[in-house]
Amino acid sequence: MIFPDNKKTARGSILLIYTGGTIGMMQDPADLTLKPFNFKQILDAVPELGKFAYKIDSYSFEPVIDSSDIEPSLWQKLAFLIYSQYGKYDGFVILHGTDTMAYSASALSFMLDNLTKPVIFTGSQLPIGVPRTDGRENLISSVEIAAAKDSSGHALVPEVCIYFDDMLMRGNRATKVDSDNFRAFRSENFPLLAEAGISIRYNTGLIRQPDDWDGPVRIHSGLDTRVSILKIHPGITPQVVRNILCGDQTRAVIIETYGSGNAPSKDWFLDIVREASSSGKILLNITQCLGGSVNMDIYSTGKALKNAGVLNGYDSTTESALAKLFCLMGQNEDNAWVRSRIEENLRGEITK
Ligand code: ASP
Repeated sequence: MIFPDNKKTARGSILLIYTGGTIGMMQDPADLTLKPFNFKQILDAVPELGKFAYKIDSYSFEPVIDSSDIEPSLWQKLAFLIYSQYGKYDGFVILHGTDTMAYSASALSFMLDNLTKPVIFTGSQLPIGVPRTDGRENLISSVEIAAAKDSSGHALVPEVCIYFDDMLMRGNRATKVDSDNFRAFRSENFPLLAEAGISIRYNTGLIRQPDDWDGPVRIHSGLDTRVSILKIHPGITPQVVRNILCGDQTRAVIIETYGSGNAPSKDWFLDIVREASSSGKILLNITQCLGGSVNMDIYSTGKALKNAGVLNGYDSTTESALAKLFCLMGQNEDNAWVRSRIEENLRGEITK
C-alpha cells in the first residue's frame, strides 16, 4: 500500500513492515484476549502518516504474530526482505511485539553488515485503536527517524534501533524491562542515540557509521541455534549444570553469572565448566545485572572461570549475546573461529 497524497512530492521513501504485536491487536469478543488484526486498520488509525512528505510503502507478514512466536526463520525473512528492497528505500520501520523485540533487533544488527540505512523497530504497550495508545507516537516518530538525513544526504541513524516512548536505543543494547508501563525498554549500558521531545535530538557522536557509505549492505543469513543459557542461582545442582553445559546438542552456552562475572567456586562446578570447555564448547560469561560489565580479573571466583576457558561477554545483554552467537556460529562451523570473534565489538553491542 502506498499513501497516494504524498507520492509525487516525496522527499524520501520508507518501507513499513508489520510483523504483529500489541500495536496491531484487537480484543476478540469471544474470549477477550488480544489478537493481531489487519494492517490496513493500523494505517487507518494513523492518518498522520499521510502528511509526511515521504513515500510510505507497507508490507505485512502473513500471518501476523504475537512476538512470543518469533523464530530465527522470521529473522531470516526480515533480513532478506530488507536486503531485497534495500535500493528502493531510505529507511525501514518494523512493527513488532515488545516481548521479543530486543532479540529481533539484536539479530538483525548482526545479520546486516555495512548498514547505511536505518532499520527501526517499534511497537506499543496499548493497541493502536485504543484512545490512550502509545503506538501512534511510536510509529510516527519511528518513520521520521527512519527518513532523517544529514546535510550530505546520508542517513542520520544507519543502525538497527528500537524506538519506544521517546527514546531511540541501539537495538542490541536494549532490553524489555517493564510489562505495564509505556517506558518498556532500557538501554542501561549505552546512552540513547536520540530523544524525542518537541524535536528529535540526535546524539550524533554516538551513532555508528558504516565501514563504507558507498559499499553494498551484506547479509549473514545463516543462524545456528545450538545455544543454551545457564542462569546461575544459589542452590543450583551439578545435574542441572551438567545437563546444560555438556549437552550433546549445544555448541555454545551463555552463563549468566552474578555481579562482575562471578559463579560458585566449588570444585564440582569448576570441574564441569572445564569439562565442557575442553570438549570444545563455547562458553560465554555475561552478568545477570542490568548494568555493568563482566570482569573476570577482579574476584578469584571470576578468575577461576576465565582459567577454565570461559570467554568474556563484557556488558552484553542476554538478547544480544544469544543473537551474536547464532549469527557467528551460522557463519562458521569452526568453534575456534567463533571464539576468536565473540569477544570483539562487532556492532557496538559491547563496551571494551
Ligand atoms: N505479546 C505481545 C507481543 O510481543 C506484547 C506486545 O506487543 O507488547 O507480541
